[in-house]
Order: sequence, then C-alpha cells, then structure tokens
Amino acid sequence: MTIYRIPVVPGDGIGQEVMAEALKVLKAVEGAFAGLTFACQEFAAGAKCCQERGTDLPDETLAACKTADAILFGAAGLPAVRLPDGTEIRPQIKLRKLLDLYAGVRPIKRYAGVPPVLAGDPAIDYVVMRENTEGLFASEAGGARVGEHVVVDSLVITRPGTERIVRWAFRMAQQRKGAPADGVRRVTCVDKANIFQSMAFFRQIFYEVAKEFPGIEAEHAYVDAMTLFMVTRPLRCDVLVSENMFGDIISDLGAGTVGGLGLAPSGDIGDTYGLFQPSHGTAPDIAGKGIANPIAQILSARMMLEWLAETKRDPQCVQAAQAIERAVEHTLADRKNHTADLGGKAKTAAVGDAVAEAITRGN
Ligand code: ATP
Repeated sequence: MTIYRIPVVPGDGIGQEVMAEALKVLKAVEGAFAGLTFACQEFAAGAKCCQERGTDLPDETLAACKTADAILFGAAGLPAVRLPDGTEIRPQIKLRKLLDLYAGVRPIKRYAGVPPVLAGDPAIDYVVMRENTEGLFASEAGGARVGEHVVVDSLVITRPGTERIVRWAFRMAQQRKGAPADGVRRVTCVDKANIFQSMAFFRQIFYEVAKEFPGIEAEHAYVDAMTLFMVTRPLRCDVLVSENMFGDIISDLGAGTVGGLGLAPSGDIGDTYGLFQPSHGTAPDIAGKGIANPIAQILSARMMLEWLAETKRDPQCVQAAQAIERAVEHTLADRKNHTADLGGKAKTAAVGDAVAEAITRGN
C-alpha cells in the first residue's frame, strides 16, 4: 500500500467547486486501485484567506506543500480583493517562485464529443511549455512606479532559466506519445526575437540546447504569427516553448481551440516539487452557480498521477492516470455530461459523478 501526502488547496471562486469533483475522482481511483491511497488534507490560500487571516499563503500551507508528495491546487484570486498596488492576490505565483516550479506544462488536447471550435474539427494534441519563474512575471510585485505618470515592469531572461525550460521541452518531445500530423517530432520556440534583445537571447539559447537533441526538429515562430498558426494549422504543433507571459497567453488560446478553459489542465513542476491546477482562474462570473466545468481540475489530478508515476517509479499511478483519461473520454463523449461552457446543461457535481462512476465501472 502506497500512501501519497497531497495538500489540497481549493482557493477561491470555482476553485472550491471543481476541487470537490477532483477529490471525488481520486476516491474512485482509490476504490479501483487497492494499493493506492491519497492522504488529501485541505489547506487555505487565496483572496478569501487573505481577507480572513491577513495572508494569502499561510505558513502551514507552505509547510505542507514543502513536505508533500504532490500538490493539488484549485484557483485563487478575486477581482474585488486587491493589493495596495492594484494587482490581485496570487499565491499560486508565489508558490511557483518559492518551490521553483519552473516548468508550466499545459497540454492542449481535443476530446471527441466536445463541440468543435475549429473548422474540420482537427484532432489537436500538443503541449505548451511555459517558463514559470522569470520572463515578464519576474517583475511581479517588483515593478517600479514613479509618481502618477510612470510605471515600469521588466522582463528577465537568464541563461540557466532558459536552458532548463528548453531542455524540458525537448525531453517532452522525445517522450510524449502524441505526434503532429506530419509525424515529425518538433519543438517550436515562440518568441519575439525580431524586436526584443531578451527574446533574441531566449532563441539563441534555444538553438544551443537543441543541438543536444538531434532527433527532434527545432524551429521558431514569432508569437503573433504563432497565434495564427495555432488556429490555422494546429496539427503541426507538438511542443511549444516560450517565455512566461507569452506562455500564459498562448496556452489560453490553445485551450480555446479545443473547447475552452474548462478542459485545460496544467502542471507547475520543478526538480523537487509538482503542483497541479487547472489553467483557468476563479471565474467569478459563474462561481457559486454549480455550473463550472470540473474536467480541467480532474485532468490536473491525472497529470499529478503521471508525475507521481515518474518521480516515485510507481506503475499503479501510471494505470490510475490512464483510468482517469479513459473515464474523461467516456464522459465527454456523451453530451448529457457537458456543462454550460460546452453548450450543455450538466452541473459540476454531475460531471464529477460521471467521471468517478466511469472509473469504478472500468470504462
Ligand atoms: P486568471 O487570470 O486567474 O487565469 P482569468 O481572468 O483568465 O483568470 P478565468 O477565471 O480563467 O479568467 O475565466 C475566464 C473565462 O472562462 C470566464 O468567462 C469563465 O467563466 C470561463 N471559465 C474559466 N474556467 C471555467 C470552467 N472551469 N468552467 C466553465 N467556464 C470557465
């Protein structure tokens, strides 16, 4: 029997609602795999926590994350709860820095049954690798405001920070099972190297690292052109790697091409820790209505199991991750399980029930 310690941080808004469904699914996994137990314990973080306790990331939450086998996070931040500089509460970004979760892994995958977004309904399957700790987000809480008329945020690119994310992207291209339509494994550096020195440096390091991976095609695209290619020729995409801010934007665009943020999981991963959360935020416009799509959170739990499988060398976690993937495919294939974002009427809890039941039945 393997027991994994999982701090669960639901956060704010729909984070609470979708997390309840991911936990339901993990319970079903425990039922289906006798050797697996998840010691899930809830911890506070986020905007509501900040209002109630004066901190968005309490010490015990951080301590639990530091001793965890993996962290399951919901979403945090509310538009009405702001720091004095006008920005939102964002413990997830603090955690990326504190735990050095430098690789933002964001799979973009089309599931059968989901209403098509792009003409021809292409079988999209690629990964956006977002550098998570530097880039334009390095300025987070550190930009300079000069009086009432000037504000500066700076974009930071370092050699070690770029080398490690690019290496991760090439290793991902070597390992992943999805392949672009032309069968060529490739990593695309998404940048703006024609304008910014920082981006030219990012691209230079990209091609230096690419030499270590002769079996993988290396190419580049300007970020503006890439947004076009993601819509016009998504089947050519395999692994896209980019600076923090660009990665944030193109991963939401990618999610939009396969049905929306409610289907987009992510992993924030470093050399020691792994935190798994949906790509979406707290969605205040739909929070409290029970209509949020929990699939992104459930698929984030699947990514957590894949990571545990790799880091703990646990074959049961591989099978459990596959069981979640199959159950999600089975669930989404039936339109009655579609939430409002997919044009359906299903409630959040009903979708979680459907995925959990599919796991229990062995679908
Ligand atoms: P953040 O900056 O924290 O990522 P955001 O401002 O990009 O957040 P989100 O909270 O991700 O915004 O929401 C963007 C839109 O997507 C909203 O209209 C929201 O209702 C919708 N959305 C996000 N997640 C879901 C979900 N799980 N189910 C249904 N709709 C969602």
